[in-house]
Amino acid sequence: MSTNKQDIDDIVIEANAELAQEGAAIDWNDAPVTGSGEGFTQRATSTAEDRVAIYSTHTWEESIVPVYMLKTHMKQKWTLDNDVPSEYVGKPAWSLKQEGQPSRGTFKCVFHASSEARQDVLNAGLEGLTCNKSNIPTEFDVQRHASMKHPERYKALESFRRGRAEADSRDTMTELLKQLVDAKVTPKTKGSTK
Ligand SMILES: [Zn+2]
Repeated sequence: MSTNKQDIDDIVIEANAELAQEGAAIDWNDAPVTGSGEGFTQRATSTAEDRVAIYSTHTWEESIVPVYMLKTHMKQKWTLDNDVPSEYVGKPAWSLKQEGQPSRGTFKCVFHASSEARQDVLNAGLEGLTCNKSNIPTEFDVQRHASMKHPERYKALESFRRGRAEADSRDTMTELLKQLVDAKVTPKTKGSTK
């Protein structure tokens, strides 16, 4: 369950090997990938721009990360703060192998440029943020995603919507009252006082 340092080193070596196979220039001398304890750094200097594919162990979705970030990613474990079921907590978050079918939802983040909520986002003055997340499994997860990843803006959007809903219902109420008053007044008892 836990990924120890040797595993990580192996993974880095494996990734570097893959990159090398793909023709990336890796300075192995400058990539001390084994046996250097906590001070270990992945310094394949010539690969600063090289990317490697890693996979979420939750959704098996692919992420492309710079090689120098690989070690950091491979050490990440799911935590309660991540958007994952509790049984994932403590398990490695990324794998170099795609060991399952990517579970792709189709719901977009409310801050996605082509989200159905886009007009609300614009009306609320929150156009400063666009989020590319577009594979959220359910509507519930959309809310969870938005309130976790964009908490302040999501709060602002929610309160904008609440305010508008209240204004709408006020308008409706006013309209109803007006109709009621009109209805009462219309059958005028003209000049009937005495
Ligand atoms: Zn988002």
